[in-house]
Amino acid sequence: MKAIVLGGGIGGLATAVALDRAGWQVEVLERAPEFGEVGAGLAVLPNAMRALDSLGLGDPVRALAVDGAQAGVQDVSGRWLSRADAAELRRRYGEWAMVHRADLLEVLRAKVPAEALRPGVHVREVHADGTVVHSAGTSTADLVVGADGVRSATRRSLWEDAAPPRYAGYTTWRMISAPVPVREPVETWGRGMRFGYAPLADGRVYCYAVANAPEGSGGGLAELHERFAGWHDPIPALLAATEENAVLHHDTYELPCLSTYVRGSVVLVGDAAHAMTPNLGQGACQALEDAVVLGSAVRGVRTRAVLADALARYDRERRPRTQMVVRRSRRIGEVAHWSSPAAVALRDGAMRLMPRSTFVRSFAPILDWTA
Ligand SMILES: Cc1cc2nc3c(=O)[nH]c(=O)nc-3n(C[C@H](O)[C@H](O)[C@H](O)COP(=O)(O)OP(=O)(O)OC[C@H]3O[C@@H](n4cnc5c(N)ncnc54)[C@H](O)[C@@H]3O)c2cc1C
Repeated sequence: MKAIVLGGGIGGLATAVALDRAGWQVEVLERAPEFGEVGAGLAVLPNAMRALDSLGLGDPVRALAVDGAQAGVQDVSGRWLSRADAAELRRRYGEWAMVHRADLLEVLRAKVPAEALRPGVHVREVHADGTVVHSAGTSTADLVVGADGVRSATRRSLWEDAAPPRYAGYTTWRMISAPVPVREPVETWGRGMRFGYAPLADGRVYCYAVANAPEGSGGGLAELHERFAGWHDPIPALLAATEENAVLHHDTYELPCLSTYVRGSVVLVGDAAHAMTPNLGQGACQALEDAVVLGSAVRGVRTRAVLADALARYDRERRPRTQMVVRRSRRIGEVAHWSSPAAVALRDGAMRLMPRSTFVRSFAPILDWTA
């Protein structure tokens, strides 16, 4: 049986690995001229580490990662709003890994048979019978996997009535600074703005900033210096150690929930299925889970009739879970981006009172996943 995976991001490459391991012939069509990621850091949470382990990729990722368990949330002066017990989080849920995106993508790419990778192919249209129209012609397969991200051509082709991406109301900057001494990953919440940082394995620091802003607005490093002036150390030092060309700036979108991830021989994974706000650091983690579940659903499938049952199983398993994560992530973003002084004072007070055990338990529905 043959599968074509559309998109060679984390979701697409992980799915290609899973399908290859399940005995399928795979081809990955990627519009970029080569497989790779620009960019920043990525938190691989314990659920996704288990997904990587089940793809045989946990150890190569561990070799490139540092411990990424969140130490907690601070206010702009550096006082703790909630302090996580990192050891307890690790004991309860497993390992957190902080990696460079490019490293994770390279580990995935290296596991896909080289002849399966087709960069420079732009997908234009997808049909439910497994036909894909693209810049190099037309291809067909028993299974087509739409892993083409938040502006998915697959979703546009076959989910014609689906609403377009919805702007979350805040814009995001990501960057990697030159090495600055930073012990642990921390996020700081202000009024309608957040700043987070996490050390990477080579001493550099992955930083992100999020701010309420109209869609399409927001600039570069100068704006970050201005917005975060006066925030606690090491935030100004991290910005001072960042080059302008290291800053990636994007508005934040999520996709409205679908009633199915399957149309005929076509299935969606990753952001194409359930693009979410980044507040839980789960977008790529859920894509890795999708890959594992899809690979296991289609293992041993030899006919299209049986494939339909396998895809229905994937949909039943993945849709409720991923949509729950989309909703939780949105809710956290709403609270994190409150901007009225009274609401922020109330929020910060409530966070200071939250017992550590409640904080640890709150992760269970997401992190308890096993392959
Ligand atoms: C600021 C920010 C921080 C984040 N932090 C985290 C985090 O810490 N942890 C985490 O798990 N997630 C995080 N995420 C989410 C994560 O980045 C995404 O969920 C994940 O990258 C989705 O992977 P994907 O493969 O589904 O889609 P994408 O990464 O978007 O990949 C889609 C691929 O398809 C290709 N493509 C698109 N259209 C076509 C076409 N027509 N033809 C051919 N190819 C096409 C693209 O070039 C791309 O390579 C974050 C997101 C943001 C915005």
